[in-house]
Amino acid sequence: MTVPRFFIPAAAIDSKKGTIVHEDERLTRQINNVLRLKAGDRICLLDGLGSIYHCRMESAGKGQLKASIEQSLKIEEPFQIPVHVGLPLLKGDRFEWALEKLTELGVAKISPIIVTRSVVQADLSSENGGRSKSNKLDRWLTIMKEAAEQCERATIPRLVPPRRFGLFLQECSLVKNSLNLICAERRQATSLVKKLDNDEGLPSPQEIAIAVGAEGGFTGGEVEEAITLNFLPVSLGQRILRSETAAIYALAIVASKYSASE
Ligand code: SAM
Repeated sequence: MTVPRFFIPAAAIDSKKGTIVHEDERLTRQINNVLRLKAGDRICLLDGLGSIYHCRMESAGKGQLKASIEQSLKIEEPFQIPVHVGLPLLKGDRFEWALEKLTELGVAKISPIIVTRSVVQADLSSENGGRSKSNKLDRWLTIMKEAAEQCERATIPRLVPPRRFGLFLQECSLVKNSLNLICAERRQATSLVKKLDNDEGLPSPQEIAIAVGAEGGFTGGEVEEAITLNFLPVSLGQRILRSETAAIYALAIVASKYSASE
């Protein structure tokens, strides 16, 4: 049987004593009611910073998990170059679905972006919707954490609160030696696959940023702003993909090109 894996905060780990104590109702409910684990069963706990702890569970009662560490290891992530995806807020469950799939494919950071033609517009004012905004972020983080556990990643991607597209562009443009890409349909844009093929033999970038438009696509002004800030418009082929498909496809192309050979 596969040993179940869970992310826990690094602060819960006492490496000197070889013990882990973590308060989490949701986790202990899952351990007891869903997985039906018993004291003495093996579990793997991850600190989200790249270390995995092979443990024996001691107890999981009253919302508290206790485990003893048998071995700790540093895990090497197979995908080396951090990829930052600017993902638009999307209708229905498409955005959350994309969070899960991007996590599985190794994304390092996701910025939910608000573009002119987004159907979903986040309320960015602090006085309005502060609580519901943080509930949403918690929910999105949980989706990414569970996806990371499921696909056996050692780290959970970073997620920042939704922000205007221009701020995402500015942040990426400040990263040194970053390859910044904007997925632009219906333009004479370079094919992403060809661009990466042509770059073969050149030093790899330190980071890659990928911007994807919402249901209505980017406006001409948004693409121009991105180009001014050093983004390269790229094509993903002749078909017009949904935003979530475009994000996943673009990340998969980049990941297959820059993955460390296994
Ligand atoms: N409403 C737009 C239209 O009909 O032209 C389509 C927008 S598409 C559903 C959403 C986003 O996915 C686009 O803004 C772009 O970032 C990306 N995308 C979809 N297909 C693409 C392609 N073939 N090449 C590059 N980007 C693509």
